[in-house]
Amino acid sequence: MSFISIENLTTRYNTSKGLVHALEDVTFAIDKGESIGIAGESACGKSTLGLSIIQMISNGKIYSGKIQFDGQSLLDIPDDEFDKKIRWKEISMVFQGAMSSLDPVFSIQEQFDEVLKQHNFEGDSKQSIIQSLNSVNLDESVLKKFPHELSGGMKQRVIIAMALILKPKFVIADEPTTALDVLIQAQIVNLFKKLKKDGQSFMIISHDLAVLSEVAEKIGIMYGGRMVEFGDSEEIFLEPKHPYTKGLLESIPVLSKDTKPKFIPGIPPNLVNPSEGCKFYDRCPEAMEKCKKDPPKIKTKTGYVSCWLYE
Ligand code: SF4
Repeated sequence: MSFISIENLTTRYNTSKGLVHALEDVTFAIDKGESIGIAGESACGKSTLGLSIIQMISNGKIYSGKIQFDGQSLLDIPDDEFDKKIRWKEISMVFQGAMSSLDPVFSIQEQFDEVLKQHNFEGDSKQSIIQSLNSVNLDESVLKKFPHELSGGMKQRVIIAMALILKPKFVIADEPTTALDVLIQAQIVNLFKKLKKDGQSFMIISHDLAVLSEVAEKIGIMYGGRMVEFGDSEEIFLEPKHPYTKGLLESIPVLSKDTKPKFIPGIPPNLVNPSEGCKFYDRCPEAMEKCKKDPPKIKTKTGYVSCWLYE
């Protein structure tokens, strides 16, 4: 049995402009000890996927689908039980934007204490906080400090330590390296590698494929609220199939080659009451008449691709 298996997950938001189809029919599975990287451009549904798993959707709801996690069906667990037993204890989240996730008027110690209080922690809190800080290569000296006294990389480490403090089995990290300079990005990537070696499983959400290639065994490519390609990292990077995945990979500069990075012309689709058919249709260089209908998921070596080219 898979450690996490998501089937046909569909989440929509109610807005003044209409129903936003943020996540449609998303399916994937990973095994114990594996991590998954979720890639795609802004507003493609990456964060909504993470928020749906940890069930923190506001202004919207999960319409259909299944989320199996370590033998439990998460969508069948009542809200209050989910909060007591699953959220933060079994699945936690590193929210986007470490710079704004910490409260500037409280010390780091107070912010850790708040997390433990919210989750009725009963063990040795001081010991747990220190252990958690050590796991991200920080020591207890940061506890007396306020967020403005820490560098960007230290703040991101503190946020990751908070997500790890109750020893969850699965951590969702939303854009953990965005807005950090390249040296700090490298430190955070190395930190994820170290935590993975220690047995931690992650979902890392990023628009940066290079980061995902370093830390994830599985990759899911999202476009227009759909997972358009899923599979082993090696297959996605070496044998990409979906035209959007190919476009994403071609947009990465390769220093050892003479070729210039390409860009994908056009703009992302409007997800308010979208019409039927492949959401990449308007931007796809290989679009055909039949792409005006929703493409099926076609099995690949290690996952699937959702595109009529492979029917
Ligand atoms: Fe392009 Fe058609 Fe495949 Fe969509 S289904 S990516 S439009 S070829």
